[in-house]
Amino acid sequence: MIVVVNNSASQEQFDNLVSWIEAQDVKLHFSRGETHTVIGLVGDTTKIDTELLEGLDIVSQVTRVSDPFKNANRKFHPEDTVIEVGNTKIGGGHFALIAGPCSVESEEQIVAVAQAVKAAGATILRGGAFKPRTSPYDFQGLRAEGLALLLTAKKETGLPIITEIMDADHIPLFEDVDIIQVGARNMQNFELLKELGKTKKPILLKRGLANTLKEFLMSAEYVMSEGNENVILCERGIRTFETYTRNTLDISAVPMLKELSHLPVVVDPSHASGVSRLVKPLSLSATAVGADGLMIEVHNNPQYALCDGPQSLTPEQFEDTATAVKKVLAALR
Ligand code: PEP
Ligand code: MN
Repeated sequence: MIVVVNNSASQEQFDNLVSWIEAQDVKLHFSRGETHTVIGLVGDTTKIDTELLEGLDIVSQVTRVSDPFKNANRKFHPEDTVIEVGNTKIGGGHFALIAGPCSVESEEQIVAVAQAVKAAGATILRGGAFKPRTSPYDFQGLRAEGLALLLTAKKETGLPIITEIMDADHIPLFEDVDIIQVGARNMQNFELLKELGKTKKPILLKRGLANTLKEFLMSAEYVMSEGNENVILCERGIRTFETYTRNTLDISAVPMLKELSHLPVVVDPSHASGVSRLVKPLSLSATAVGADGLMIEVHNNPQYALCDGPQSLTPEQFEDTATAVKKVLAALR
């Protein structure tokens, strides 16, 4: 349920209303706008008398929200959420260009890619240390050593870093990581989501391989209902019957998610297509439909990448894509 309060209400009237709502055994979520404050009520609101609330002078509107996701719902928080990461922001008109290799392979590799993507305009460095591989015989990532190498690249370039977590027990290792990524395969690992909800770290949550947008938003809700509102949604393609591409980029997910939710929405054209030559056109289309950022795999030598070489751009190709993306952003302004 949402209760919209006029900002002309006195502090005392507002506090009285809040105490009354709190006594109804629901959690409150506040979003203050210029003329109104939206109070979101989360929990069992069936016993709350909407007519009584509507009758109050300071209340301009009471609406029952039937969507199962509440904290992530734009009705609860009409303004776009802006997430601060280091000295950069994501959402609300701030576009994030996240780039880097699928996996951290060595200090030389990650530092070289970090410098190259920074020079081309990337604002955040990606790199997998713990890799969720389909086969246990494939490269599993450098794990804790990979995290240490990412921190070296962060120090060398000043770029904030994002990397994937697979196990809640590893949270202490991610202390100096700027954004924790939850991969597609863990989108419904609810215990992991709950533990990440107890941290204050920005979480980039990838859509599961075969999950609906409602399920995706409910996973964001798991993190947010524990108190961590810093969630970034990432559309990374879903499984369809198509085989020429690794996945199918659900481009309509971007405007739909932005309508349903106030959270920033980022697109990963690399995992969506699996084909490096499709990364530029998909990046442009994602930008044009209103994505708040892109996450692109870049490798200094894609033929020799230990993971996802066929979808990785060279630094030169990334620069070309980034330049074209900036033109789309300028055209949208
Ligand atoms: C990744 O970004 O490295 C990754 C494994 O992506 P996804 O979870 O989308 O498959
Ligand atoms: Mn990858």
